[in-house]
Amino acid sequence: MAVRRIGFIGLGIMGRPMALNLSKAGFDVVGYSRSPGTRDAFASGGGRLAGSVAEATAGADIVITMLPDTPDVLDVALRPYGVFARAAKGSIFADMSTISPHASLELAEQGRRLGVRVVDAPVSGGEMGAKEASLSIMVGGEDADFEDLRPVFAALGTTVVRVGQNGAGQTVKAANQLIVGGTLGLLAEAITFLEASGADTVAALQVIAGGLAGSRVLDRKGGAMLARDFKPGFRVDLHHKDLGIVLTSARQTGTVIPITAVVAELMASLRANGDGALDHSAMLKAIQRLSGRAAG
Ligand code: NAD
Repeated sequence: MAVRRIGFIGLGIMGRPMALNLSKAGFDVVGYSRSPGTRDAFASGGGRLAGSVAEATAGADIVITMLPDTPDVLDVALRPYGVFARAAKGSIFADMSTISPHASLELAEQGRRLGVRVVDAPVSGGEMGAKEASLSIMVGGEDADFEDLRPVFAALGTTVVRVGQNGAGQTVKAANQLIVGGTLGLLAEAITFLEASGADTVAALQVIAGGLAGSRVLDRKGGAMLARDFKPGFRVDLHHKDLGIVLTSARQTGTVIPITAVVAELMASLRANGDGALDHSAMLKAIQRLSGRAAG
């Protein structure tokens, strides 16, 4: 299939740079988002806007969603005048949001009934990865659909892997979020300990980053934690949602994940303290509160 027109729904922190990168790559992209602020930002970046989900979907070879949570994707896909109601037969619906693997499977089944090809393709790499088109993209779906999507994904990411059938992309993303959350928790504990010990934290993170304890989480979030710069990025509310997906999926597969259970509680405590809109590097605040230290 030669992809020309792409409908892109959800123009937030991730969706806007992704949709703009697709435009830059030469695709005919029409974007739509619910909040006026994100629509304006997309238009001022040179993007072409549709007035509704139905308008963004009409005539598209591919419809991409980049929405916050499972209910948002189900709503946009299944409602009257939603994606499935308007998508052309043989077109592809690629949901790149992070949602429950079970919901991705449901969407794929609905798509099969209607002649729409459905793929789950969640991403990792954050806002920077979206802007730089260097995302990791984890794809669940039919091989032929993946092949048709290759040029689209190539404009968004550098590591693009088909990991299995529908839902598999979301399962891999859940594992990804488990690792990121746990690493953030340990990084926050290390910083809290270093500060309490009176260590030079900048020098400490610099040398730690070069050894076995180095990680991309440390590279991307360590400096922000030291500076108490918790502007999102990836909101605590969204990571909380992802850890819920991880815990539910683990229970369904009979997997015991005690470390993630603690991390999920820490993330929940951030929300309970009114920090849900901060970047998930605010994990530092949750850890510091435990020691009676204020994280700023
Ligand atoms: P965001 O809240 O910044 O953006 C979501 C956008 O969706 C908003 O512009 C909102 O207006 C729009 N929206 C919500 N409901 C809608 C609806 N019914 N119809 C049309 N538009 C609607 O979120 P984000 O950070 O861009 O994240 C999007 C998805 O990507 C989430 O599933 C998140 O877990 C995942 N993700 C985010 C990051 C990150 O670093 N931010 C990284 C990887 C994956």
